[in-house]
Amino acid sequence: MTEIIDGNEIADRIKTELEVCVETLSDHGVTPGLATVLMSDDSASETYVNMKQRACEEIGIEGRHHELDPETSSDTLEGRIEALNENPNVHGILVQMPVPDHVDEQTILERIDPMKDVDGFHPENVGKLVTGDPQLKPCTPHGIQRLLAATGVETAGKDAVIVGRSNIVGKPMMNLLVQKNNLGNATVTTCHSRTNNLTEKMRNADIVIAAAGVPELIDGSMLSEDTVVIDVGVNRVDADDDKGYELVGDVEFESAVEQASAITPVPGGVGPMTIAMLLYNTVKAASLQENVDIDL
Ligand code: NDP
Repeated sequence: MTEIIDGNEIADRIKTELEVCVETLSDHGVTPGLATVLMSDDSASETYVNMKQRACEEIGIEGRHHELDPETSSDTLEGRIEALNENPNVHGILVQMPVPDHVDEQTILERIDPMKDVDGFHPENVGKLVTGDPQLKPCTPHGIQRLLAATGVETAGKDAVIVGRSNIVGKPMMNLLVQKNNLGNATVTTCHSRTNNLTEKMRNADIVIAAAGVPELIDGSMLSEDTVVIDVGVNRVDADDDKGYELVGDVEFESAVEQASAITPVPGGVGPMTIAMLLYNTVKAASLQENVDIDL
């Protein structure tokens, strides 16, 4: 029987644990604070930021939302980040990507104080992740590690195939799974648009993590029996309903579920974990900055 991995349920458990940590911080006079910065009119970006702010409220993190006109200069955005870096009530800073074309994304990521970098994208945090001493891990790959652990999927000695090599999902996922620890120790193959024989790589996999951003790229015929399938993809495709679109993953669920031993749905799989791990990073950042020892 294939296990459908319930990301909402696992994320709720993590949020309950984090609520206890927030109470401990509060006993020390600390309220963790997360600043989100949006510089876009994109409706999906607005939705993501709102979801993150709502999740903060749920567990007692103080959310502060900043909106900048998409025409604003990069200097203004950088100035805003500088002010947030200096603000002792702000423990985490998240600039919602993408930023407009006239703003260099990497410059912005590097302006954020690495201790407040709750996305885990600053080069200092990337370096620490690669060397096996992570400070703040990127939320989506960290969430996937926690999903695997909560589902009882052993990664040690397993062949993991990641489809996608982005800086936010594929590469950090590769680095986390290959680490010498109890959530790693996997043998990792990272695929991308120039990979030959993708199907052959899939068939050798015990664990497939699909993060290509291509609707239903992977179907059941490409998978071996008993593969664990984690679908990161969130793709809007046209639909004949009021909204005019529906969300599908990078995996064709109906055929993949026949082969998989466990699989995440879209929505309700990886997405809620990404938000839970953002809250986790904010609480962790607050505990590090305020020198409060909490069990995370
Ligand atoms: P990017 O577009 O940055 O990266 C996509 C990667 O997939 C690239 O490395 C690309 O290769 C590779 N790729 C594209 N087409 C193929 C193909 N046909 N075969 C093999 N590899 C391919 O995407 P992201 O990493 O930002 O996101 C991936 C997906 O995950 C998206 O659908 C996104 O919406 C979703 N997402 C979901 C999150 C969640 O919380 N659920 C969080 C973050 C992302 P190349 O490098 O050669 O171009």
